[in-house]
Amino acid sequence: MDKQLIEQNREKLLAEKKRLRAILGFDSDNEGTGAYPGEYKPRFPEFGSKEDENASEMTFYETNLAVTQDMEKKLVKVDSALKRIEDGTYGKCVKGDDIEEGRLLAIPEADTCIEHS
Ligand SMILES: [Zn+2]
Repeated sequence: MDKQLIEQNREKLLAEKKRLRAILGFDSDNEGTGAYPGEYKPRFPEFGSKEDENASEMTFYETNLAVTQDMEKKLVKVDSALKRIEDGTYGKCVKGDDIEEGRLLAIPEADTCIEHS
């Protein structure tokens, strides 16, 4: 595995981790313990107490919850990739073969080759 590519992806992964944590963090519309996955939750919005307002609140909350969960999942993948870089197993597919360099360039947190994705 190309050392330069690993170093480059490490930078990308660290930046992505910082970005995701900032979006998920306490300064945003989420609340939670900061642990993940499953610990961040969007704040429930208060649009009003009419029936249609309550319905909009629910829709808004569910959309945000889905987005939050996707970001948490990404964060777990990014963390796992950073750990593999530390362990020296980065670039290995979960099935044991090598992940294509082009794929790692496009998706630094990839843990499978194209065939096994
Ligand atoms: Zn594979």
